Amino acid sequence: MSSPDADDHLKPWETVRRGLLMLVSSPGGAGKTSLSRRLVADFAGMRLSISATTRPPRPGEEEGREYFFKTREQFEAMIAAGELLEWAEVNGHLYGTPKAPVMAALEAGRDVMFDIDWQGARQVAESAPDDSVRIYILPPTWSDLSRRLHARAQDSEDVISQRLALGRREVTHWDEYDYVVVNKDFDSAYAELVHIYRAERMKPGRNPWLPPFVEGLLGETV
Ligand code: 5GP
Repeated sequence: MSSPDADDHLKPWETVRRGLLMLVSSPGGAGKTSLSRRLVADFAGMRLSISATTRPPRPGEEEGREYFFKTREQFEAMIAAGELLEWAEVNGHLYGTPKAPVMAALEAGRDVMFDIDWQGARQVAESAPDDSVRIYILPPTWSDLSRRLHARAQDSEDVISQRLALGRREVTHWDEYDYVVVNKDFDSAYAELVHIYRAERMKPGRNPWLPPFVEGLLGETV
């Protein structure tokens, strides 16, 4: 699929927008990271939330790109200082969303994409119900998920088994989400994600420019 032009969903007169929070969850290996990063790359109005974690970096991961890597002490200090919007323990490691960049993006009228587990998605959606959109990504088959985790070759056999077991528990929360996408093929799943994003952006409450626009329409003399 060709890339949609950045912000081609924004209309020229749209000067005020209320940012939305796109919360994307899936079992590890179902493709949520590639899908969400592609959406952020294609839409200039969207920022990616980079989480903090106590998990050690995987081969190829970079500080500040995939995560901000923290010790448990540093992470607990962030919790104590109220610096996290939400946090959760996943597979023995702590993961959390730094609050300040999300607030700055929203104040600038940007949307924010979160790659987040079901616990974090639930916390954010509860604190900002009108601004949150929850999307669950499912693999087409469980063996496909296992194949993808092996193909990544980032984790040991033990860690892959743990991640598959964790994935089974994670998937039981699929029905808490507003949308579900089955990632059978990347391009089709991505197209579905773009449809969801575009439709959600067009909701009247996310477009405070609409009332004055309609007022202007009605005030026009023809
Ligand atoms: P991984 O270790 O594979 O990068 O991530 C493990 C899980 O933690 C994934 O389900 C991922 O979505 C989730 N996760 C990543 N960042 C955050 C976060 O900031 N908060 C929460 N609650 N979960 C996160």
